[in-house]
Amino acid sequence: MVSHELKTPLTSLGAIIQVANLKLKNSEDKFLSGAMQKGALQIKRMTNMINGFLNISRLESGKIHIDKQEFDLCELILEAIEETQLIFGSHEIHFDGCPLIRLNADRDKIESVISNFISNAIKYSPKAKDVYVMCKTEDQKVVVSVKDEGMGIEPGDLERIFDRYYRVESNHTRHISGFGIGLYLSSEIIERHGGKVWAESQSGIGSVFHFSLPLDTGDA
Ligand code: ADP
Repeated sequence: MVSHELKTPLTSLGAIIQVANLKLKNSEDKFLSGAMQKGALQIKRMTNMINGFLNISRLESGKIHIDKQEFDLCELILEAIEETQLIFGSHEIHFDGCPLIRLNADRDKIESVISNFISNAIKYSPKAKDVYVMCKTEDQKVVVSVKDEGMGIEPGDLERIFDRYYRVESNHTRHISGFGIGLYLSSEIIERHGGKVWAESQSGIGSVFHFSLPLDTGDA
C-alpha cells in the first residue's frame, strides 16, 4: 500500500517534468532543459526502487504474476543497456549482440533482471569503466552474462548475495546505496521461468553474473 501511495505523486511529477521538457526543448536556456532531463532520470530511478519493493511484497503474498509474451531477447538487452546507460553515464557498456532468440517470457521482468545486473556492475565498479554484456545459447538454454572489473565479492558473501536484503558490508560498499533486494528479486523471477542465476567473482578483480533460461519457456 505504501508503495502505491508513493507512486501516485511520482507519476504526477513525471508528467509535469515531461511537459516542461517538451516546452523547453527549443529553449535557449540550456540549464533548464538539462535540469528537466536529469529530473526525469531521477524519477525513473525512484520508480524502479518503489517497483522493487512492490515486487517484494507481491512475492511474499504470492501475488507476483509472470505475464509471458514472445519477444526478441537481443532487442531487450539493447533496450536495457540504453536505459541503464542514460541513468549511469559513467561507464561504457559493451555488447557484441547475440544470436536471434525469440523468448516466450515476461518481457518487463526479464528486462528488470538484465538492468539489475548491469546497474550493479556499474555501481560496484567505481574505479573501472567497462562493463561487458554477453549472450549465448547452449544445450537448449540461453545464457546472459554481465561482467565487470570492479571490487569483486569475497567467497563468504558470494554465497549469500541472492538472499533477501543481503548486502556486503565493507569499506568499499559503505557509500553505495541499495536495499539488497535486486538480486533476490532477479533470482525469483528467473526461477519462476524455469531458469537459474549464479555469479563468479574474485575480490579486487571483478564479477560475472549469469542467468540462464530454457529456450522452450513457452511450455514451462
Ligand atoms: P543492492 O545493490 O541494492 O544492495 P542487490 O540485491 O542488487 O542489492 O545486490 C546485493 C549485494 O550484492 C550488493 O549490496 C553488493 O554488495 C553485492 N553485489 C551485487 N552485484 C555486485 C557486483 N557486480 N560487484 C560486487 N558486488 C556486487
